[in-house]
Amino acid sequence: MATLESVQSALNIANTLMELCKTGSPAARVAELREALLDVKDKSLDLQQERQALEHKVMELEDQLREYERFDLEQADYEDHAFPSGAWVVIEKPIAQRMRSAGDSVLQPKYFCQACFERRKRSILQPEAKSQPRKVFMCHLCNLSIPYDQPPRMTVEIY
Ligand SMILES: [Zn+2]
Repeated sequence: MATLESVQSALNIANTLMELCKTGSPAARVAELREALLDVKDKSLDLQQERQALEHKVMELEDQLREYERFDLEQADYEDHAFPSGAWVVIEKPIAQRMRSAGDSVLQPKYFCQACFERRKRSILQPEAKSQPRKVFMCHLCNLSIPYDQPPRMTVEIY
């Protein structure tokens, strides 16, 4: 819009210049026209840079959209899985099927953080080193600790 205004102003000056050429000295008007044209040039460069930045942003958003769409498609390949502790994680469906038939101990499945999965991020849970052998898993993306085993039952003594 600013460029259009500058072009219009340059045209106005050019028209005035034509009138002045017919009647008097046009030197001041030529300088004015030159200034207006330089202004148009600067604003055009600014607009070109803004356009390039916007095109770059559009490309980033298109990539993000493709990633979201791919995640939606792949989401069908995963299912929820409960640890003995009652904590929920996400697991690949074929692995879950094998675990149901062969048992948890036979496989070394990849567990994914449920909270991160809801945010469309696949974060593989890793055993929390300092908690071994209590089997606590850790999400290194959201720092969530997820207990694997059922908590030990508390014995209450009644007198
Ligand atoms: Zn997480």
